[in-house]
Amino acid sequence: MSNTKKIPPTIFVIFGGTGDLNARKLAPALYHLFLGGWLPEQFALICSGRSELSDEKFRERMLDGINKFSRTGKAAKAEWDKFSEHIVYQTADVNNEASYKAFSKRIAAYEQEWKVQANIIHYLAVAPEFFSIIASNLAKNHLADDTARTRIVVEKPFGHDLESSRELNRLLAEIFDECQIYRIDHYLGKETVQNIMAFRFANALLEPLWNRNYIEHVQISVTEQLGVGDRSGYYDGAGAMRDMIQNHLLQLLCLVAMEPPVNFTADEVRNRKVDVLRAMRRFSAEDVRESAVRGQYGSGWMEGQQVPGYREEEGANPQSNTETFAAVKFFVDNWRWQGVPFYVRTGKRMHRSASIISIQFKDTPHNIFPPETAESWQQNRLIISIQPEMSIRLQVQAKRPGLDMMLNTVDMVFDYKGTYTSEAPEAYETLLLDTMLGDQTLFMRGDQVEAAWDLIMPILKSWEGRTSQSFPNYSADSWGPELAEALIARDSFHWFTLPLNGNK
Ligand code: NAP
Repeated sequence: MSNTKKIPPTIFVIFGGTGDLNARKLAPALYHLFLGGWLPEQFALICSGRSELSDEKFRERMLDGINKFSRTGKAAKAEWDKFSEHIVYQTADVNNEASYKAFSKRIAAYEQEWKVQANIIHYLAVAPEFFSIIASNLAKNHLADDTARTRIVVEKPFGHDLESSRELNRLLAEIFDECQIYRIDHYLGKETVQNIMAFRFANALLEPLWNRNYIEHVQISVTEQLGVGDRSGYYDGAGAMRDMIQNHLLQLLCLVAMEPPVNFTADEVRNRKVDVLRAMRRFSAEDVRESAVRGQYGSGWMEGQQVPGYREEEGANPQSNTETFAAVKFFVDNWRWQGVPFYVRTGKRMHRSASIISIQFKDTPHNIFPPETAESWQQNRLIISIQPEMSIRLQVQAKRPGLDMMLNTVDMVFDYKGTYTSEAPEAYETLLLDTMLGDQTLFMRGDQVEAAWDLIMPILKSWEGRTSQSFPNYSADSWGPELAEALIARDSFHWFTLPLNGNK
């Protein structure tokens, strides 16, 4: 990282500072920004929760989180000591208006000491039921008055459906300008995801091919080996469609399908993304049956360990109708993409954890090679692997060495590991830095969130209105229900998976 950008004096307030998200993601990310020299001298981190903790005790907890979850391992004592001087803890119940006076006092004290007006970031790392109460209390206590200096960061999930996301947007809009609201979709901060835009719009080579004339179909697949574990309390009210497709997968789809923005400013980029969501074909009840598949995992064995089915997980509803797998065939009805199917799928307890975008090009118009070459024939494919492997591969046909004209498929590979020596930052490092810099490019705008909800509501309504008689319909360590294979096989394609060693 070369620190080309300067963060102004900043006070970063984390509501939910004692929670899992702070320990796992925010604390390690802020610590790495500190190590990288990004944070200004005049930086304060105020973490809060209901727990009664001294600054010292809280710092110990935060250090535990960093030591456990940091991408660079345990924190060095000298660095940690310096960073921890910036951290204080404030006991506060977000429902209690008086708590906000304490924040005001702390902020005023820093500003007095620094003799500047600082930027104030309010980060809502709490359950969604608290988003609106915190926003209202910030307003009542004049903690959001200055539109240029105050920002609010809202974690996922942003709403439970179209109605509730509209309601939350409406409430936030009464208090904040859109330019103050940072809705997190952490996928957008991932290095490989940001690279989709660089790859598409910094190379002249691709644009002429990037349309219905040359691309046959697109697949976006985000699979996880993990089950819900002890999170079924949250997950049972969400499911794969809400938890993954409404946000992460549709955002990936937008990056593949968007028109080139005029420039790289936040609103230009987000305008082009929202255009995609608006152009996506809406589903009738009949379409849902034909184009969407849901699944729920049963028990099985994963890497030698027996694992429970979703309905047998700790605290789970034994009759749950919640989907842990979803696959949908989408269309983007515009000039560029008319007729090109976009298949997306996501699931838990799948055979492998991998996030992959596969773009399959149309076949050559005429085969000039001997018939035996057809055996290994494979249409050109561009594979963007987001995780765990971070790579872009172009699969092309090549002549195998030898006296016969035999063809096989080879990969032209750009692999982060082999190309760069520096380690990629975590998504949250990028997103927290951008929040402090005031760059909203990688954050969801209100209309984007609503457009995504609007698109998937017919699927959610149809699924919630019909109890699935077949659940559980895939076993742990599989690639999901058979119906998901049938969804794509009907169009003569199959789901693409990247072999473990990356080679075809
Ligand atoms: P969590 O571990 O349950 O933490 C919740 C936090 O909220 C705790 O710090 C808790 O503090 C605080 N809290 C609860 N009631 C409060 C109240 N009345 N007043 C003040 N503070 C209160 O939850 P989490 O996993 O960190 O998740 C937080 C948010 O991030 C959620 O919206 C979640 O969906 C989102 N998120 C989490 C992750 C993740 O990896 N964990 C990933 C993506 C998104 P006390 O216990 O001290 O009161």
